[in-house]
Amino acid sequence: MNPNESNAPAKKSLLDVSFDELTRIMTDWEEPVFRARQIREALYVQRRTRIADITTLSKSLRDRLNAHYTLRQLSLEAYIESEKDGTGKYLWRLADGYKIESVVIYEGRRTTFCISSQVGCPLDCKFCATGKMGLLRNLTPGEIIEQVLQMEHRIGRRPTNIVYMGMGEPMLNYDSVMQAAETLTDPDGYGLSPRRITISTSGVIPGIYRFADEERPFSLAISLNSVDDDVRRQIMPISKKYPINDLLDAARYYTEKSGRLITFEYVLLDRFNSTREDARKLVKLTHRLRSKINVIPCNATDEAYRPPSAEKTAVFREHINERSRRITMRKRKGWEIQAACGQLYAENQRRKKSKKS
Ligand code: SAH
Ligand code: SF4
Repeated sequence: MNPNESNAPAKKSLLDVSFDELTRIMTDWEEPVFRARQIREALYVQRRTRIADITTLSKSLRDRLNAHYTLRQLSLEAYIESEKDGTGKYLWRLADGYKIESVVIYEGRRTTFCISSQVGCPLDCKFCATGKMGLLRNLTPGEIIEQVLQMEHRIGRRPTNIVYMGMGEPMLNYDSVMQAAETLTDPDGYGLSPRRITISTSGVIPGIYRFADEERPFSLAISLNSVDDDVRRQIMPISKKYPINDLLDAARYYTEKSGRLITFEYVLLDRFNSTREDARKLVKLTHRLRSKINVIPCNATDEAYRPPSAEKTAVFREHINERSRRITMRKRKGWEIQAACGQLYAENQRRKKSKKS
């Protein structure tokens, strides 16, 4: 099915309904308010996947809920798994036919779910496969939450961490992203610790101030990728609107207001940001701001944007290792399964096109 081909109005998901809204609906339906608590428990503690299975509710209430809501909007379109480290990548089809990705990454005792916030992304970072799609639409809170529930169901394990590092820019779908994060951290529901959810932004400054002012308890990461305005503008067009100094001011505002560290993500790209001089600037940055930095080699999306050679990476690593313990150089997990955001989607589209021709 092509996106939007079906005219049937898609039913809203119960996962889209916040607990407060659910309480209001039960009141409107002249049900006792504890029904809202029973539904929350069924969805997020017992993890029911069908409304019909919420047997704590009367049959008539289940029927009424079923008439208005659904519980499953994502169906699995493709799955691939890395033989090397078990990283699993899911491509989901949404009710309107659009597709999104999520990834599960195993690292020691951690099980990290990497989830999407939008179908595509409007920000067009040059090294990013999702950026090439443009923005197709925002995800609803339910579509965000369901990625987590479905992956957990499939692997039979709860996530220890959730990162908004799949497709999309979370700060441009702020309300849905925060509602989903709140739902997943509700102590009477899914119960994940708020600090274990990381919102990653490419540097949408108004979103960072709002996040700080609303005192959101989730962790914050900024995809910095360069400390040089000229270079950053070339690889991340959003930097034309929001220059690095203003971005670092916003980051400082957040660290001071929240009393927490901020994480910078730094994708190593050959010819753009991986010289010894770049490493020196990164070390300097950690002295200016309460921060830690994750350096990750780029997953090549095309010829122009690829990781530096092993030699150049080693020079970069040495400079950093000798001078800062707040900077970690990581290996990209699931390298061979194209686990960088948007890459499975792109591969799936390519295959479809080649089948048609
Ligand atoms: N839009 C948000 C979150 C989604 S992108 C953001 O940009 O932060 C999540 C992360 O994937 C970002 O840190 C981004 O820099 C990184 N990324 C994108 N394309 C990549 C690639 N080809 N290789 C490695 N990391 C990539
Ligand atoms: Fe969007 Fe993030 Fe990809 Fe940039 S890196 S295009 S902001 S998803």
